[in-house]
Amino acid sequence: MPARFHARFNKAGVVTGFTGMILVVLLSSGHAAHGHDIGTESHADEHSHQSVAAGHVTIGIEGDFRVIESDGLPNHKTGQFPGPRNPNRISAQSHRFRVPVAPKVAEKTTPLQMHPFGVAINGVPLDPGAAEFWNRDRRSGWQYEALGGVVDLGLDQSNGHVQPTGAYHYHGTPRLLLETLSKETEKPEMLLIGYAADGFPIYNDQGHSDAGDLKSPMKQLVSSYRVRKGQRTSGEAGPGGTYDGRFVQDWEYVAGAGDLDECNGRIGVTPEYPEGIYHYVVTQQFPYIPRLFRGTPDESFMRHGPPPGGGFPGGPPRGGRGGRRSPPPPPFFPPPRR
Ligand SMILES: [Zn+2]
Repeated sequence: MPARFHARFNKAGVVTGFTGMILVVLLSSGHAAHGHDIGTESHADEHSHQSVAAGHVTIGIEGDFRVIESDGLPNHKTGQFPGPRNPNRISAQSHRFRVPVAPKVAEKTTPLQMHPFGVAINGVPLDPGAAEFWNRDRRSGWQYEALGGVVDLGLDQSNGHVQPTGAYHYHGTPRLLLETLSKETEKPEMLLIGYAADGFPIYNDQGHSDAGDLKSPMKQLVSSYRVRKGQRTSGEAGPGGTYDGRFVQDWEYVAGAGDLDECNGRIGVTPEYPEGIYHYVVTQQFPYIPRLFRGTPDESFMRHGPPPGGGFPGGPPRGGRGGRRSPPPPPFFPPPRR
């Protein structure tokens, strides 16, 4: 990227844009969404009066924060849920996420824990981590990659599926959401998919060949992660076998191998931020949805109540804001090397 552009970004900090009030209301295609899954019936709050069949999201500015509230129902068709490969039914949620309007690059990157990386602008969480571990042991340090081709999580054509809580979420490119956002049919477009928990915007994998020039041709951006060479540790310490991408830990960042940094983002101009901003990209390759924050993730994305995937029948009800925090699971990555 041109040095002049870098300097301008650093001097200006994060460039403004989207400073006005934004209100987005989307209607879903109206699939059945009567929640009878764990935890979805037990909380009544400001969203409980809404029809569960209406996908609904509002994005507004409150002080220094962008606030995204939604019932989590996608505004596009989904796979069949419950279905043969996913027993859960989509139900209305009461998501409330908050991100800084003017996000800041932190001194150090922060690995994603078991909580959403961000939220799409239709109010559906971008939540790449699967609660599937080697030997079902989340402390093993070996986590199956949802899109690694081994664990069948019943993902639909938008790389989405449903947690036991009824929460629909994406593990990769939300294809049908992109269709709803696209204005063109012929030309590749850079589309604002949503916001990361640290406030930086998230785009699809089309970007400018010169990150600093809105007029430069578009190209498909690729991640800089590659499958490690060699064998996994075996015995007690690891599953053994050749690295093939099925585990999150099979992947390593190789600087310069692709277009993006270890957080799967870069600094560049975007339609919404023509002066340039750090932004993330959802790629067709690992990590798909990023797993490392350039800024500081907001508390509102931290998981309250039981972790996803386990079910926890008879367990504690899903907490609301200020509810019980789950104990922290091991991070997705070993500490980042700088
Ligand atoms: Zn999932």
